[in-house]
Amino acid sequence: MTDLYEPTNVATKYPQPPFKPQQQPVPGTIFEMDPPADHGEESYKGSGRLAGRKALITGGDSGIGRAVAIAFAREGADVALNYLDEESADAEDTLGFVQKAGVQGVLIPGDLADEAFNSGLVEKAVEQLGGLDILVMVGGRMPTVSGIEDFDTEVFDNLLRVNVHSLFWLTKAAKKHLKPGASIITTSSIQGFVPSPQLAEYAVTKAGIANWTRAMAQQLAEEGIRVNGVAPGPFWTPLQPSSVPNEKIESFGEEAAYGRPGQPVELSSTYVYLASQDSSYTSGETIAVTGGTPTH
Ligand code: NAD
Ligand code: MG
Repeated sequence: MTDLYEPTNVATKYPQPPFKPQQQPVPGTIFEMDPPADHGEESYKGSGRLAGRKALITGGDSGIGRAVAIAFAREGADVALNYLDEESADAEDTLGFVQKAGVQGVLIPGDLADEAFNSGLVEKAVEQLGGLDILVMVGGRMPTVSGIEDFDTEVFDNLLRVNVHSLFWLTKAAKKHLKPGASIITTSSIQGFVPSPQLAEYAVTKAGIANWTRAMAQQLAEEGIRVNGVAPGPFWTPLQPSSVPNEKIESFGEEAAYGRPGQPVELSSTYVYLASQDSSYTSGETIAVTGGTPTH
């Protein structure tokens, strides 16, 4: 396992393309990733930066959300994880790492496309964790198309509900529980700034998320609640083999300046930074973590 903290050539630090062809049905699982992704299981070291905080993480079973859950737990936060019912194997495994860190972990599966579920999710997290300080919205879908002929209103409606509406629903429900000092974190994408043709629908949602982050930061500033986002480049997670064709998987990450995809653990500290008081004068910002590729 690569030592996260060892200074080394960042371009060759983690696996590079070509990758083996691999496809998964949506929503995918970490157990089918070849090579396996690094979510910080063996490497991430906490230093109490989130001691006693309580966080709700959507998409917390796998990929980026799993890396965030492991890091937050090792920083001392109790965490509630949301994911889809069919992802319980990934979620249980992530929960194991959370519990090993000596904090509380709770699992709350359910569909973010369902408005009533979103408010219920916040209430359950507050009840089971005994409060809420940090809302991290990572869960999302990424349908791909070959062209405008493929545009499907039903697919797009669902995509908007999961990727965008859920931000409003969760934040509306969370606001009454969040105290000054709380942090809300969204997950945009390089696609929100530099869209690929096959990801037009997805890219619109990710641009919207960065915009939402700027607007919501201003709405909540006087309450002392910060709102920031992360815009990842290509990351080695189940989202990819369950969303893009094999020819893209084989060369996955090649387009980044580093010539490789990021590993989820390479995002952990960015989310920890935005969640913690280290970033107290930062709100409305979306931090790009793209392996050196410019976002504009
Ligand atoms: P992932 O597949 O591990 O995580 C996505 C998660 O979204 C799933 O685990 C699932 O729990 C959740 N999800 C999807 N539909 C849902 C629904 N209807 N209800 C509830 N949960 C649902 O992949 P990931 O790459 O870690 O994705 C996390 C986020 O990062 C996504 O928002 C994605 O758009 C974003 N992102 C990923 C990349 C990348 O290259 N992997 C790049 C930029 C942004
Ligand atoms: Mg998953």
